[in-house]
Amino acid sequence: MIVDAHVHAGEYYRHYSARFAEQMTASTELAPEDLSAPEAKLLAEMDAAGVDRVFLLAFDVQRVEGFSVPNEFVAELCARHPDRLTGFASVDAGVPGAAGRLREAVTGLGLRGLKTAPCYLRMSPADRRWYEVYETARDLGIPVLMHTGYTPSRNADARFFSPLLVEQVARDFPDLTVILAHLGTPWTRPCVDLLARHANLHADLSIFGSYQPPATVARALAHARDSGVLDRLLWGTDFPFASMTGSVTRMADLARDPGLWPHGSDPLSPREYEALMGGTAARLLPLAAPHATPTPPSTRRLEVP
Ligand SMILES: [Zn+2]
Repeated sequence: MIVDAHVHAGEYYRHYSARFAEQMTASTELAPEDLSAPEAKLLAEMDAAGVDRVFLLAFDVQRVEGFSVPNEFVAELCARHPDRLTGFASVDAGVPGAAGRLREAVTGLGLRGLKTAPCYLRMSPADRRWYEVYETARDLGIPVLMHTGYTPSRNADARFFSPLLVEQVARDFPDLTVILAHLGTPWTRPCVDLLARHANLHADLSIFGSYQPPATVARALAHARDSGVLDRLLWGTDFPFASMTGSVTRMADLARDPGLWPHGSDPLSPREYEALMGGTAARLLPLAAPHATPTPPSTRRLEVP
């Protein structure tokens, strides 16, 4: 089973602001319009790449960027394709009521994880305003996928790029499943070292695995293997910021070609490849289980104390 653990929902004209889309694509070969991932395009890309399932992310940066990809939008897509899409909510801890919005997104809308964008929101992932959100995620038993690493978005705060900021969260919430996005690119080595220090930390390979030279990716994977954390890495792309087809091909090469690997390191074994490409994601979220059926609005009110 192949699971892309980092995929963005949303459409350029409907969700992303033009300014944000231009900044995110300025240093790439993509046009701002390419950030559109309507349902048909997403499913066609999955089929072309042989991807069985994706973690599909909402994105709440309304307070800073003036737009969001809403939880409700992601939930609707997931409800239409429960066998292919697993939805992640997104909330901003800088806006009061974030923990309640997360609870509603999971118990009411059927979403299965949380995506956070701390540096985009000009907050550290260890900012205390997140803590009620983390407590809620832990109590709901859902993973938290946090953006870590660089972003070209100019409104983001570069003081909060470093994956090392997540160490305090790992310490304070040892029972919370955390996934650091992009392997903390460009701080991939410190990110792997951090995973080795905290068993609840995981990381996805999105952007890093798609854009860095294959030998650079192999070096990071070899370091993860040597550090005993390879089974906590998840393949992902950041689609539509990167293609699934291209990334699947690159990963297959890493499993095949010893020439890409540092001296003394073997290519990915079949077992390692299967874990990286979907096995670990399936372990974090029981993907065979159907999406929670959204509670009808008439009864939902009764659940809120
Ligand atoms: Zn992303």
